[in-house]
Amino acid sequence: MTAMTTDFIRAASCADDYDPDSMPVDQARKYIRNYLTPVQTRESLALRSALGRVLAEDIVSPFNVPNHDNSAMDGYAINADDIQPDGTTTLRIAGTAFAGNAFVGQVQPGECVRIMTGAVMPPGCDTVVMQEHVQTEGNRISFGLGVKRGQNRRLAGEDLKQGQVVFSAGHRIKPADLGLIASLGIGEIRVYRRLHVAFFSTGDELASIGQPLQQGQVYDSNRYTIHGMLERMGVEIIDMGVVRDDPKLLEQALHEAAASADVILTSGGVSVGEADYMKQLLNQLGQVVFWKVAMKPGRPLAYGKIGNAHYFGLPGNPVAVMVTFYQFVRDALLVLMGQPNPPPVPLLPATCTAALKKAPGRTEFQRGILFSDADGVWKVRPIGNQSSGVLRSMSEANCFIVLPVSNAGVAAGEIVQVQILEGIV
Ligand code: AMP
Ligand code: MG
Repeated sequence: MTAMTTDFIRAASCADDYDPDSMPVDQARKYIRNYLTPVQTRESLALRSALGRVLAEDIVSPFNVPNHDNSAMDGYAINADDIQPDGTTTLRIAGTAFAGNAFVGQVQPGECVRIMTGAVMPPGCDTVVMQEHVQTEGNRISFGLGVKRGQNRRLAGEDLKQGQVVFSAGHRIKPADLGLIASLGIGEIRVYRRLHVAFFSTGDELASIGQPLQQGQVYDSNRYTIHGMLERMGVEIIDMGVVRDDPKLLEQALHEAAASADVILTSGGVSVGEADYMKQLLNQLGQVVFWKVAMKPGRPLAYGKIGNAHYFGLPGNPVAVMVTFYQFVRDALLVLMGQPNPPPVPLLPATCTAALKKAPGRTEFQRGILFSDADGVWKVRPIGNQSSGVLRSMSEANCFIVLPVSNAGVAAGEIVQVQILEGIV
């Protein structure tokens, strides 16, 4: 056994609850986290190309946003000193302020300025009265009680102050962030390089699309779901196809993957039948730990390093592939991409419409359909066939119903926790 494997197991087994035959999901995630070193290489990117990338520098606001006090409404800019406290206020319109075309001149007592949303507040004015709240007559306006000083005025720096750290290094860019960075006039940013993820499917029974299906064969679907999930993660994808259950070929494929990728994913060959196979091989090649994670589906999981590459051996069952990807690989990829603390996928309460069978001992990720009933109450209906081989259940589902280890079944009408699938990756 190599040094890292021994270290890994020693470190892990110092915890009282380490049990490789029944590793809780959270523990497995934590142990994996200890071995993840984020990529360090940086590159400059045009802002438009940076969606989903992780910042390698802090973004600091070079100025106040907005950089002037301006109007939040179409209306009239006034000086609140002119407001008549107990009656109607009447003011003379001295001019107009447009967004991008400020009013020039001095506003005198008793005067106001017609102002559009986003226009700079004229000097001497501190309040905007909505146009719906005034009567106009010639070049005069009047309005009644209820106008408060500062109303409908956006303050300079209200969005961002000059020098403020807007995003810290390690932040992953969302669409709103692209807009916010653009509002600072920044068109190029430093991000970490993309992760390179290589993957292949294992199994003598697998046919690739385009080949005729022989008796006993199934088409390799895992490579397609994995491709989709990786694409959503924004990594560079190295698809290595199908590898037969042959130690020589598997070894060759793993070496090849380790030479070019930061992360290697395989599916299949880690369960009891072939497990010893893959296990022996990986023990020779790298530092890999096999766990039976206390979860369903997705019990067998291998994690470790082959050369400098991180290795995840996912189970072969198509649903288990997706569950283990979402629960372990997603998190790990985000950390490796440079995001030190990826936000956990939220668990939301919903009323379960049907009874669920479950024995205590494992965390279960059952597939469900989350919907809002006629009264607007969020409910979840379990999918009929929960077998981990039935990929249709993942396509039909829009959420996991997450049942904790100790749960011993759910009655219809009980509240359960769900994880929405859209947006997990
Ligand atoms: P294994 O973990 O290799 O024992 O595979 C478990 C089950 O998943 C078997 O029924 C396999 O046929 C199926 N399976 C494994 N890999 C794939 C794949 N790439 N696409 C579709 N099904 C697969
Ligand atoms: Mg197999």
